Amino acid sequence: MDYTRKYRVEPGSKLRLDRIDPGDTDGKSDKQQARAEIVQANQRLRELQYLLYAENRHALLICLQAMDAGGKDGTIRHVLGHMNPQGCRVQPFKAPTEEEAAHDFLWRVHKVTPRRGEVVIFNRSHYEDVLVVRVHELVRKKVWSKRYAAINAFEKQLADSGVRILKFFLHISKEEQLERFGKRLEDASKHWKISESDYSERAFWDDYQRAYEDALEKCSTRHAPWFVIPADHKWYRNLVISRIVQETLESLDMKLPPARVDIDAIRCKYHALAHGDGG
Ligand code: AMP
Ligand code: MG
Repeated sequence: MDYTRKYRVEPGSKLRLDRIDPGDTDGKSDKQQARAEIVQANQRLRELQYLLYAENRHALLICLQAMDAGGKDGTIRHVLGHMNPQGCRVQPFKAPTEEEAAHDFLWRVHKVTPRRGEVVIFNRSHYEDVLVVRVHELVRKKVWSKRYAAINAFEKQLADSGVRILKFFLHISKEEQLERFGKRLEDASKHWKISESDYSERAFWDDYQRAYEDALEKCSTRHAPWFVIPADHKWYRNLVISRIVQETLESLDMKLPPARVDIDAIRCKYHALAHGDGG
């Protein structure tokens, strides 16, 4: 199946999140049924990241956004778990420091974008500046409303310099969020994850959904598409993201670089060492 086409927010289209089912599994009944596809997708992801790193021509930037308990941490574990840590990085975005806040909102973002050959996952991103900032009016509307255009120009510039950009909104239902809050309470090893704001932010659920709809509509572009990922089922969320990353990397038509030495000559030297002077 073409996961990219199915879950991409088409540039210029209207988006209604309440019309997209967070529990969608594309007819697959459970993880067991999707097992072969999951194994195959992960294997291919590993090979493609090796190519990206070896070829050192393109870069990949993945932005992850979600409501609290939406599954960002699990997604990162899953996607990067199948890649070589050499060549991958996770970049979290917290509330801006004093120094960051004293600059334009993209200042802290640009310098942590991936270099050639690298995969970087943003755990939250510059989109917080049109999400939490908008919902809580941390700056005036006159200021945040200009940021969509700034983001599009910024992402275009990255894309033009060889960075492939994929942006995933992990779409969970309000019921699923409550369920996950409950599970966190029951599991002492997850207590450290609980914050007061998880609960206070839930009261702004609808405002966040509107802010997400606007951001995804205005900033899903050909060079930096947004995807709405059904995320109530973790295994399906992981499968869809693996597949979209895979489809994107396949489209780069990457090749291993040629050897930098004359392999036949080197082989002669090797044999002389191995059989001649005893090493
Ligand atoms: P967490 O990802 O759970 O560690 O939380 C990070 C917190 O930083 C969240 O509450 C975000 O809303 C907040 N945050 C991230 N970026 C910004 C930003 N640009 N402005 C204000 N708050 C932000
Ligand atoms: Mg959190």
